[in-house]
Amino acid sequence: METYSQQQATGLFRETWLRVLPRLDAASLWLAPSTGVPHLRVPCPHSCGWAEKYAQRTRVELAGRGFARVSAVCLHHGPYAATITPTGGGYLDLATLYRNMVKELAALAEADVLQVMVKGTDWMPGSLLVDGALQAVGLTRGQLPARLFCPMIVAETGAKLSKSLIRSGEAALPAGAEPWMLDTRKWPGTVGEFADRLLNLAGLLLSHPRHFFRSYSAAELSRLMSLPAGSPTT
Ligand SMILES: [Zn+2]
Repeated sequence: METYSQQQATGLFRETWLRVLPRLDAASLWLAPSTGVPHLRVPCPHSCGWAEKYAQRTRVELAGRGFARVSAVCLHHGPYAATITPTGGGYLDLATLYRNMVKELAALAEADVLQVMVKGTDWMPGSLLVDGALQAVGLTRGQLPARLFCPMIVAETGAKLSKSLIRSGEAALPAGAEPWMLDTRKWPGTVGEFADRLLNLAGLLLSHPRHFFRSYSAAELSRLMSLPAGSPTT
């Protein structure tokens, strides 16, 4: 397991970003369809740690072989610049589509490894754009990574059950959803029982493509998780 914060600090990720930078123009409309400017942010080096939300004043230039200069403006501290090298130069905050393109290019650099991107179904429209970006910077369709889209858990409205929005208080727990769906520590039974039910659920979802390539309402997830392990399912 590796978080984005850890990954962006690696030499492989930074080298990949520096390598794709000269070709970024070709992919810009795939990565930012509404503006044509894929966002990149580097936080202000002063204690505020702020970065421009929409990167309006952020400029990137390939300064030489193996490093790039990013300049931006902090509302408190004024203009600042960061030099990004394969081994350092500050946090590299790329917008979602942009970071996924770099992430996938970095993964594909590992020869003789079958890379599989595993995402929720809500990412399906986004992955079409990443595929377009990867081809725009020079990959062929055969070089694109394999993709696996996992079932999405939805509220009764059909929207994704957004754990982050509910946790932050911006959305209410929808009908049928249980507190343990947001925080597994709130499972009413034992940890062993939770693990058994989860394993059972995974077995069911993987038992047939028609069970895997679909969405589940929070209420249905709750029902499936209430079935004792090994019980027949329909
Ligand atoms: Zn600042």
